[in-house]
Amino acid sequence: MKHFPIFIALEGRSVVLSGGGEAALAKLRLLLKTEASLHVFSPEPASVIVSWAHEGRLVLHRRALIAGDIQGAALFYAADEDDVEDARTSAIAEAEGALVNIVDNLQDSQFITPAIVDRDPVTVAIGTEGAAPVLARAIKADLEERLPTSLGTLARIGKAFRKAVEVLPMGRKRRDFWADYYYSAGPRAMDQGGEVAVKDSLNTLLDKYQAAAEREGHVAFVGAGPGDPELLTLKARKALDEADVIIHDRLVTPEILELARREAVLINAGKEGFGPSMSQDDINALIVEHGLSGAQVVRLKGGDPTVFGRLDEEIEAVMAADLSWHVVPGITAASASVAAIGQSLTQRGRNSSVRFLTGHDMKGFADHDWKTLARTGEVAAIYMGKKSARFIQGRLIMHGADRTTPVTVIENATRADQRVLESTLETLPNDLVAAGISGPALTFYGLAPRAAQVALTNTQEQELA
Ligand code: SAH
Repeated sequence: MKHFPIFIALEGRSVVLSGGGEAALAKLRLLLKTEASLHVFSPEPASVIVSWAHEGRLVLHRRALIAGDIQGAALFYAADEDDVEDARTSAIAEAEGALVNIVDNLQDSQFITPAIVDRDPVTVAIGTEGAAPVLARAIKADLEERLPTSLGTLARIGKAFRKAVEVLPMGRKRRDFWADYYYSAGPRAMDQGGEVAVKDSLNTLLDKYQAAAEREGHVAFVGAGPGDPELLTLKARKALDEADVIIHDRLVTPEILELARREAVLINAGKEGFGPSMSQDDINALIVEHGLSGAQVVRLKGGDPTVFGRLDEEIEAVMAADLSWHVVPGITAASASVAAIGQSLTQRGRNSSVRFLTGHDMKGFADHDWKTLARTGEVAAIYMGKKSARFIQGRLIMHGADRTTPVTVIENATRADQRVLESTLETLPNDLVAAGISGPALTFYGLAPRAAQVALTNTQEQELA
């Protein structure tokens, strides 16, 4: 950052501008928004400048600027659109110890004037260090559209009310009050009855917040599903809408986090399979700490929180802290993955049970009832099964499983980059390596994708109907 943005107090201070043409006008239009005392030096000023002088909005000196003219000025603008004149203004400013801006000369300027979105007292300044004025204009246009014109009025009225709001305890409650005012109650009142209504709305809102009992913290353990935001439950959406703090794992996709309430604090507690991670104890402590502070905490877990999610440890920590909690189920990876290959988890005549296995547990590769699994027709959904593929293959074959048993791996189920890898028990470990599976992947032992269905033509569909 070559230029550091600051907001300079100009009330009662002098600002000097040399110039009387187009460049001078552009700067003066901005400067007239301030409370500075403006001095313009120009032998031939544009007529608008003359009328501004008549209106008392600036002091016009119909001559060139000379050294010692305005002492103690805060800023100088060299706006003569003439290199020699501009250099002269610049030298005078420098002798005064004031900062100078030379219009259209970034190199020799000590400060630049940003593009401004004005919702006084809310001001947005946009600068590109001269790199892309077009971009600055586009951003300005975008913000002009997005920020309601009433924002400045709301902020002004709100500022005068700050003292009154001190009756509310600091922190959450005050923040909620202001969020409610700026995003909801304030704009509504403005639309309905203008400034008077806005002032009334502040009093009504304050009464409401004073009467409301302090909200207690609460922890919702919410399933985020396999990644597609459309596979969130309505309850999960609601929890995201109400959350103050969202503590999520690495399986939760950015598209889902996008749906969080915009004031919510997002914390990534991502745990990597075998890699470095925040310890479970740290995660428990984090959930409890936020819950005790009175926050509505959403502990957001990929898939279903009750499947390989270490949910119980977190619930125990929350209960030990006497916090209330509830669980919102989600679609687990096995359900999402089996749908992706057009199969059922159970099927009459094939498998009347299905196992959810983990490839590894806290001790390393996990042991299971290999003997039963090795029987024909068994189906297992293997979570976290990439690294343990060779181990699982070895155990199953050792217990007599058919080497040609179908195995299907679904990577990134329901996401844009979903992939399906068809394999067999015999070739699984090599196929996994060859395919370069790097995203979360679910391995189905005993299931192949349903053979591609022949699409019916329209006429056939009509005949069937
Ligand atoms: N609670 C999660 C599982 C957590 S264990 C659930 O119910 O789905 C993490 C494992 O889940 C991953 O290693 C992978 O095997 C599986 N998984 C999670 N999301 C997945 C996805 N979108 N596609 C494929 N497998 C996924």
